[in-house]
Amino acid sequence: MAIITCPGCDRDVWDGEEACPTCKYPLQISTNQNNLELFRTLKIRLAILSAVSGSCLFALLVAMVRPPADGFGAPVITVGMVYLGALAIRIITEKGLAKIEE
Ligand SMILES: [Zn+2]
Repeated sequence: MAIITCPGCDRDVWDGEEACPTCKYPLQISTNQNNLELFRTLKIRLAILSAVSGSCLFALLVAMVRPPADGFGAPVITVGMVYLGALAIRIITEKGLAKIEE
């Protein structure tokens, strides 16, 4: 076994591994440049979506614990919509990643 650089995250990994332990990049399939670009794009998108949906969830929780004086107005509904949207895109993105990893 030799140490190679993971194309997904640039960390050193054993070439015998099926997938990178850090970023789950599949090491055993033939990796063309398109796949690599797509993989990186999806990983970045996933990170952004996680941050967005996490912030929205936090904002919604704060609104639940300490409701605004004028009730749940447009801002809360907007945050809720953004959260659901980010969640939906995240699920689609994860499915895309799973396809690359197959
Ligand atoms: Zn990796």
